[in-house]
This record gives sequence, structure tokens and C-alpha cells, in this order.
Amino acid sequence: STRVGVLALQGDVREHAALLAGLGADVVLVRRPQELAAVDGLVIPGGESSVIDKLSRIFGMREPIRAAITAGLPVYGTCAGLILLADTVLDGIDGQQSFGGMDIAVRRNAFGRQTESFETEIAVPVLGDPPVHATFIRAPIVERVGADVDVLASLADGTIVAVQQGALLGTSFHPEVDGETRFHARFLETVRGRVAG
Ligand code: GLN
Repeated sequence: STRVGVLALQGDVREHAALLAGLGADVVLVRRPQELAAVDGLVIPGGESSVIDKLSRIFGMREPIRAAITAGLPVYGTCAGLILLADTVLDGIDGQQSFGGMDIAVRRNAFGRQTESFETEIAVPVLGDPPVHATFIRAPIVERVGADVDVLASLADGTIVAVQQGALLGTSFHPEVDGETRFHARFLETVRGRVAG
């Protein structure tokens, strides 16, 4: 079966692992370079991007993850994970850095106090019907996308909240907390396609 990792430094690791296992994937919790080397795809969970950034250096994971992304490893990031995939992070704290790979700029905690967390239905044309029930928790938004980035979903006001660039997929929201499996299924298709090569 398909061997995929969930970066397990901080964040909602269990929710992703359970969802991926439910889709038939062989799930590995990734904390060390040798674990990363053994997977064909990686999920970066939601959590706190600045903490995941710090821990990735402490665990010696930053450069291996960057190299894997450059080499074409399929990666799906939700929320903090999306921030970590962005080439440019706006409103970062403590000089936080991202792994990068997606030609996008994201703004952390982009929804104001009133709307720090909210749920809404969004149409995601590549996933078809029904629309996605999306949960946003201190979520980032995508403020700029490069020419090679596909916008998969936007809010009614045009705010971009789901993007794909080649083997990299990112959502501002958390499908893993809503039992929404279609983004992970799409990610697994990318992983299988690359393994079959
Ligand atoms: N605000 C968090 C960050 O900056 C992301 C929140 C989340 O992942 N739900 O990393």
C-alpha cells in the first residue's frame, strides 16, 4: 500500500493519521530524517507554524524536508502546514521561516478576532459535489499566487483558501477535523502517481 508520513513535531497529527489510514494508506509518523526518507508523501498538519518551524531545526528536519520538496515529494499542508509550504510568510513571528516550495504568499492569522474560528461551505470544483464543509481555526489566507499555482478554492469574497502547485497541495482550513476525505484522497492519488512514475 501507499506509505505516507505525517510530520509529527506538533499539531493535529492524529486526525491526519486516522483519516489517511481510513483511506488505506500505510501511515508513518515522521520525526527524523530516516523516517522521512522512507515515505512517498508527507502531510504537514495544522498547529502552530512557528513552533513546527523551530522543532524542525531542533530535530534536524528542516533541510531534509526542503530537499525532499525540491526533489518532488508530494506534500499536503493544512493551515500551519500551508504556511510552512509557502515561499513567503506575512505576519510571521519570532523570525519564523517556512520550508517553502509553493510560489505563494500567505498571511498568518488573517481573519480578525470576531472570526478567529468559523465554519463555512465552499465549492471546490476539482472535488465536485457536495461542497466542502470547511473549518477555519486562526487560519492563514493566500494573498499572492505565482503563475504555476492552481487556485482550488476561494471564499465568497475572493479570498484564496486552497491551492495546488504540482505535487504540493495546501488548504487554509482543516478537512481532517470534519471527516472530509477528498483532499487527502487527491493527495494520495498524487503520491500513487509518482510512485508508479
Ligand atoms: N495560526 C496558526 C499558525 O500560524 C495556524 C493555525 C492552525 O493550524 N489551525 O501556524
